Amino acid sequence: MTITATTEYEPLTESTAVSLAKNLQFFKEGALLHCREIGDGNLNLVFHIRDENNTGIIIKQALPYAKVVGESWPLTLHRATIEGNYLKNAATLVPNLVPKVYYTNETLAITIMEDLSHLEIVRNGFLDGKDFPLLSKHIGEYLAKTLFYTSDFGLNQQEKKKLQQAFANPELCKITEDLVFTDPFFDSETNEYEPELLGSVEGIWNDAELKLEVAKLKNTFLTSGEALLHGDLHTGSIFANDIDTKVIDPEFAFFGPIGFDIGQFFANILIQAITREGSQRSNVTSHLYQVWEEFTVTFSDLWKTESVEYFTQTPGYLDYILTKVFTDSIGFAGCELIRRTIGLAHVADLDKIKPHERRISVKQQALFLGQTLIKNATNIRNIQDVELLLEK
Ligand code: ADP
Ligand code: MG
Repeated sequence: MTITATTEYEPLTESTAVSLAKNLQFFKEGALLHCREIGDGNLNLVFHIRDENNTGIIIKQALPYAKVVGESWPLTLHRATIEGNYLKNAATLVPNLVPKVYYTNETLAITIMEDLSHLEIVRNGFLDGKDFPLLSKHIGEYLAKTLFYTSDFGLNQQEKKKLQQAFANPELCKITEDLVFTDPFFDSETNEYEPELLGSVEGIWNDAELKLEVAKLKNTFLTSGEALLHGDLHTGSIFANDIDTKVIDPEFAFFGPIGFDIGQFFANILIQAITREGSQRSNVTSHLYQVWEEFTVTFSDLWKTESVEYFTQTPGYLDYILTKVFTDSIGFAGCELIRRTIGLAHVADLDKIKPHERRISVKQQALFLGQTLIKNATNIRNIQDVELLLEK
């Protein structure tokens, strides 16, 4: 069975993935290739192909449905094009912080990219007690540059509108709208939680003040096309070691509110922080300070030196934007905390906690922190305020 760049769409197997890599001449003639499907994600196939010298490539292929649910949940193949285009755009803005893209093919819905196997998925590293000292400095820079240069502050108005069209991503946005902003706040079939959490969960469903704030956040997500977002920037979408950081998996990319990417990163750091104590905890909460610091410093620099918007010279405007972005991020972080605890897509940080009683108690803390962040977003002025809430 061979497969070439002109073949119609079909899901690859380990052997057709190898034949494709050979056809595209990624390896020397006669190289002894080894291929394994390593996808641990919910939506796609990921093939790792390497030769005798361990030189490798990654072929990521979208499936026409969501793997986590099965063929009953069809999902557009176009997300592979979105992912490839996002990575190519990011390569011009933050070349050191994304995998190199070697090849894309819209029909096959594949992205062939740099093999990052020497790094580790941050969520897994955190679970092993690692801290990734440069993670937040890199992610702060990543957020500032990708968001500034795709916003109306850093990108020509005509180009931004065109890019916005190219990154229309209705089906993947719908997943976020449902799973992050809607289902967890109602008694929806997609929710999943331990029976012991029912009291806390009903508390969320009956909290009118909370729901009004979530409605506002969802409205911002639906309507605010501030910049090109990654759209799924949790710790499972970041590879790192002590020196390097690479962001992967931008298939949810679209033009949305700047605070969303930041809030998802905040929330996934907070989730890990809740599971730790003492100095172990402060090693991860330090990422909250550092990412916000790096983001604001870099974003402010770009604002002063690279702006294409007249009003960026107006005193007070930068502060207004940074405050708004921070408040949005806090609210979005709260939604992410709640949905990762009781929604459809859970995280290992919480689900792997043993014993059972401790897991329930940590999840209750996650829910409570999520609710508090959402309801008090406008009063939370800085990361110190967030850390105080975490310690409560
Ligand atoms: P999904 O969109 O299905 O979640 P991901 O892009 O997150 O897929 O990839 C799933 C897994 O495949 C990652 O957690 C990682 O283990 C592996 N993977 C993805 N991209 C690479 C890469 N460039 N290098 C090495 N491993 C990768
Ligand atoms: Mg994904």
